[in-house]
Amino acid sequence: MNSAHLLKVDILEIAQKCVYCGYCSVCPTFKELNWESNHPRGILEQVKMYFNEKYTKDVSKSLFDAIFSCTMCKACENICIVDLPLLQVWEQIRQEAFRRGRWSSDLLSIYDKVKATHNIFGLPHNDRLDWAELCGINLSRRIKRKAPVAFFIGCQASYSGKMAGIAESMVKILRKARVNFTVLGDEEWCCGAPIFLGGGYTVGTSLAKHNYEELKKLGVKKIVSTCAGCYRSFKIVYPKILGDDWDIEVVHASELIDELVDKKKIKLLNTIDEKITYKDPCELVRHCGLSEAPRSIIKKFPNVRYEELPSNREEALCCGGGGLLKINNPKLVSEVNTKLVSEIEYTEADIVVSCCPLCVDTIQQGVKEKKLGIKVLDLVELVKMSMEVKK
Ligand code: SF4
Ligand code: SF4
Repeated sequence: MNSAHLLKVDILEIAQKCVYCGYCSVCPTFKELNWESNHPRGILEQVKMYFNEKYTKDVSKSLFDAIFSCTMCKACENICIVDLPLLQVWEQIRQEAFRRGRWSSDLLSIYDKVKATHNIFGLPHNDRLDWAELCGINLSRRIKRKAPVAFFIGCQASYSGKMAGIAESMVKILRKARVNFTVLGDEEWCCGAPIFLGGGYTVGTSLAKHNYEELKKLGVKKIVSTCAGCYRSFKIVYPKILGDDWDIEVVHASELIDELVDKKKIKLLNTIDEKITYKDPCELVRHCGLSEAPRSIIKKFPNVRYEELPSNREEALCCGGGGLLKINNPKLVSEVNTKLVSEIEYTEADIVVSCCPLCVDTIQQGVKEKKLGIKVLDLVELVKMSMEVKK
């Protein structure tokens, strides 16, 4: 069998360029599984076998198993000695798996939920702003009103009760800084991040088009996101899908807040007594190259005590929660996460901060399993803590 004609980029050609140097042994899931079939170079070997005469049912199974054991952390691509666009290969193999009916039923269920309800939880559309009521926030003046800035809340902060503090904190920050912002309310659809990571670009494209049209109706010029996954979708994927039509500036909450602090629109008043460390989300640092704005904010807290994780910025360890691995293999997530939690423990920090609800959730689980008593917060929650006048 030869399916190479189905591919958008010639991934067989990419696979053939691998020089087998092994630099990509940094792969967090390979480090846990230790099978050559899960090593990025091993996956490329299987790609070669899959798309040529060595194709067998076993090769196909092993390739798809490996591709769904990947967190899409991009550590392999960033270190690759011959600059192979590995993430493109992984995405296309996921698409191939979809075409061949090889997605797991759990994965398909996420896909169906997003298709039907436009959120990853399959919850009713109208409940998208229930978090605001939960947090005692009245957003009625902001919903679908014309404004230059849109706060895109994201599925996690909207529907997962334990992440509602992220949305609450960001709204309070924007209000305090008197930013003229809007929210899309029930017209906010999933940004598509989990769908894109699964390789499902058809549904992802309809989500992107919808969100774009709703933003344009409100005259939005700038979109701000607290979630690394949403940010990556808007920054990297939407321009690819929508081309020149995508003319909205994309900023991460950390970039906007850093600017607001510098312009004295908000003040970081309170000393955070606890020692802080910061975990770079893969989707921010390796996918989008954003690492300094969160650090810049943390260092502006009065009398802050801060220490970097041993692996930071481009070398940051993956939490294990990305690439839909939580659905495909939760045990492996926990194993990958253990290494990161050990690094956090090493810093003796009291608070670990990140900029991604998935990282926050995954690290919270790891910290709980190890009974470490370390607080895990999103950066915007920490900013809110430092900003509010103590009573
Ligand atoms: S993206 Fe991350 S998990 Fe996936 S193969 Fe590359 S290094 Fe491994
Ligand atoms: S770093 Fe690149 S060239 Fe080296 S083994 Fe990995 S994929 Fe192949």
